Amino acid sequence: MPRNRRTVLACRPGVNGESRPENFRTEDCGYPVVQDGKVLAKTLFLSVDPYMRCRMNEDTGSHYLSPWQLDHACEGGGVGVVIDSKHKDFHPGDYVETWVWPWQEYSQVSPEGLRKLDPTLFGSRLSLALGALGMPGATALVGIRERGHVTPGANQTFVVSGAAGACGSLAGQIARLEGAANIVGICGSEEKCRLLMEELGFDHAVNYRTDNVADRLKEACPRGVDSYFDNVGGEISETVIKQMNEGSHVILCGQISVYNKDVPYPPPLPQEVTDILKERNITRERFLIMNYLDKFEESGIQLAKWIQEGKLKVKETVVEGIEKTGEAFVSMMKGGNVGKMIVHVADP
Ligand code: NDP
Repeated sequence: MPRNRRTVLACRPGVNGESRPENFRTEDCGYPVVQDGKVLAKTLFLSVDPYMRCRMNEDTGSHYLSPWQLDHACEGGGVGVVIDSKHKDFHPGDYVETWVWPWQEYSQVSPEGLRKLDPTLFGSRLSLALGALGMPGATALVGIRERGHVTPGANQTFVVSGAAGACGSLAGQIARLEGAANIVGICGSEEKCRLLMEELGFDHAVNYRTDNVADRLKEACPRGVDSYFDNVGGEISETVIKQMNEGSHVILCGQISVYNKDVPYPPPLPQEVTDILKERNITRERFLIMNYLDKFEESGIQLAKWIQEGKLKVKETVVEGIEKTGEAFVSMMKGGNVGKMIVHVADP
């Protein structure tokens, strides 16, 4: 039997404070025996995502996420290949994906929520199931379509924060494809700004670590902001909202700037910003992709088409080895990724 390893939650970081590599531990574990109705799979790719930060706490503060248990394998989005099956719908050789994949090299996965990957959409790029053709891609596309009010020909300005990450790098490109005229990205390094401008077709890029965000936004958005895809919250988002137009729209996707703090979601805004939202009639309802599962298939087909036509560029940062999964998560939370952060565990 092959060696089997898993990455477990070794200790919790506490609700206030950054996660650290020491919060995770990789160890040998038993090789699973497949039970009736279940599937045995080899893990190929794992996803690390910002929402996992709350699963590191004893109380996730969320009705749809349970906490990871100490000394148990963490879990999240994953892709693998079926190597044994006692379920009629899955067969050895099938490539599959689920949102509750254990951080373990070989594991028994539950068929509930297990999705076979369609080779016509993915080709040989299976990791796309965790990024552009998975949850982040759907979040970007459905978020824009449901909340962005992007209208072709209306000369609109679209701003996205976390712009070089998994959702953000797609959101800016999708907004262009959907008809926005001026695309502005906010991110945390010069390298990322260059990527947005030179590879992904953004019109302007703002480095929030070194630029005066308010001044740079004024230059980049002379007609004000019509749609804002908010991945980060905090001061950056308050600065953007102050430059938003009457009747404009915030796509409230995420607030990563407060994920290491014990605050409710979404965190309360300063009174001045709340007043602006009201006075200018700016919409800002919470957006959650889990509420749009019925749109997943359709959005995957659209995104795959754009990728195949060369209209949507996909960036990934790939870390090698299951023992690096914890480090990959910690790094992503600090901006160590360009595009989707992926862990490559094994080849088929
Ligand atoms: P990313 O790939 O964008 O990775 C996270 C990025 O956040 C980092 O690369 C870093 O980039 C940036 N970041 C970290 N800390 C800060 C900070 N204090 N201020 C500003 N930026 C920061 O992750 P995802 O694309 O997976 O997720 C992006 C957002 O979307 C998250 O808030 C996430 O929770 C949310 N989300 C929401 C979903 C929904 O259904 N509503 C679904 C999926 C994701 P940089 O170098 O630029 O700082």
